[in-house]
Amino acid sequence: MATYAKKTFKSILNKKKFIDSWFWDRYSINPYNGCVFGCLYCDARSGHYHMPEDFENNIVIKEDVGPMLDRRLSRARTLEPDVVGLGGVTDCYQPAESKYGNSRACLEVLAKHHYPVHLATKSTLVLRDADILNEIGVQTWCTVSFTITTLDDEISRLVDNRAPPPRRRLETLSALKRACPDIRTGVLVIPLIPVLSDDEPALDALVSASREAGADYVLFSAGMSLRDRQAHYFLSHLEASNSEAYHQYKELYGFSDAADYDGLNAPPASYATPKQQLMLRLCAHYDLPYRIPRFIPRDWRAINYRVAERLLNHAYLRQANGQYWQNFYWAGQNIQNLREPIDEVSARNELHSIRNVGGKIAEEVLQMLDQYRSQTDSRSTPGIG
Ligand code: SF4
Repeated sequence: MATYAKKTFKSILNKKKFIDSWFWDRYSINPYNGCVFGCLYCDARSGHYHMPEDFENNIVIKEDVGPMLDRRLSRARTLEPDVVGLGGVTDCYQPAESKYGNSRACLEVLAKHHYPVHLATKSTLVLRDADILNEIGVQTWCTVSFTITTLDDEISRLVDNRAPPPRRRLETLSALKRACPDIRTGVLVIPLIPVLSDDEPALDALVSASREAGADYVLFSAGMSLRDRQAHYFLSHLEASNSEAYHQYKELYGFSDAADYDGLNAPPASYATPKQQLMLRLCAHYDLPYRIPRFIPRDWRAINYRVAERLLNHAYLRQANGQYWQNFYWAGQNIQNLREPIDEVSARNELHSIRNVGGKIAEEVLQMLDQYRSQTDSRSTPGIG
């Protein structure tokens, strides 16, 4: 049984040094601490996020989040409207939201200040906020992702039993899409759960059902981390419930017994790459994008965002295929963080002064800039790729 406690925090909005290259958020807000859904694989359990180990049973209600966020955005001199990721280490539509309304309060302030939003949830409660989500979609950009790692109810009972069943999440996606014509909705197969839900028929059924439900994209990752406390929690439950799968995890993650759990991390590329390539094939087969089209601001940043999007998409594809991706990733992030339009840097022949933008990547950036110019010359709406 979860306990709920109210607590005041000094700040509510976190600004990231580098954007999230999957969901495109520059800022993050966690309206609650802890998550009553308590999924077996949740990496919020790892020490990395400084949550209490039983974070599913101790939910902290952050006080005064709406006025606090309003003050922060009203006074901000150094903040520019950009994507805010709601949730992340908490589900912002867990049951507490129906009573406390912190997520709704944040969305209303973000709409007031014209900030775009991405949120990921497993909850049906998100439908309650269809009005404000669509309003944000009309103003700027709004994307809602539903995390679904399996369609199998038995496996779901093991890995995310306290959240609504997977089919209910797909129905919620469809209903939200009908209610909000101006937002994007999609499915996150994150993480793809080794052994339990990673064979081709299961993933085919999941991507096919996503398509049928009207998803605009399917994002995936086969690199399920198992770190410190998260590894102990996941593996001890798995050992007790499915000893055959537990033995397969031993081989995959390379451990002998519980004494080794602290040294684990992600499965090897020899496992992850073929699974990711399978997901790429399934997305192609069902004609579903594996990336979310990003928010493009209507100011001088637009050209940088478009070029960065291309490079970061490329890095994602290379990573999925097990190729070296880091140079493309950092070139994209460094262009993203420029404080002037990249075409002005290029006009001064100074592209090489941007870290990781040299050689082949600089040539590709020049081609993108040429495309961008020819498209903006030939039509009034700018855009490449
Ligand atoms: S819903 Fe998300 S944040 Fe909540 S426990 Fe599950 S994985 Fe973690």
